[in-house]
Amino acid sequence: MLQGVRCHECGKLSLDAGQPCPFCGSQDGSLVALSGRGRLLSWTVIRVAPGRYAAEAPYAVGLLELPEGLRLTARLAADPEQLTAGQAVAFASLDPARGPIFTPA
Ligand SMILES: [Zn+2]
Repeated sequence: MLQGVRCHECGKLSLDAGQPCPFCGSQDGSLVALSGRGRLLSWTVIRVAPGRYAAEAPYAVGLLELPEGLRLTARLAADPEQLTAGQAVAFASLDPARGPIFTPA
């Protein structure tokens, strides 16, 4: 499940990354369950990946907007050539090294 954190100081929502609020630095927040649905705003295709990810290239990293009002970047488990702006995506898994992974919905 994808979780966010609602900051008690500034009220903004961010992805739960075990880090202080990225907007104000507060460590005080509440966990919020996210739907895991989203929309693809834009993306970039990584064709030459660093070190341990080299064998996975090419892959796409997208800027997503979730209906909860949160924007995030995430790896897209999809053929980079088949992506279209505005398409629906869904949370697939949380990889310890790669972060959240989304697929076309
Ligand atoms: Zn904050």
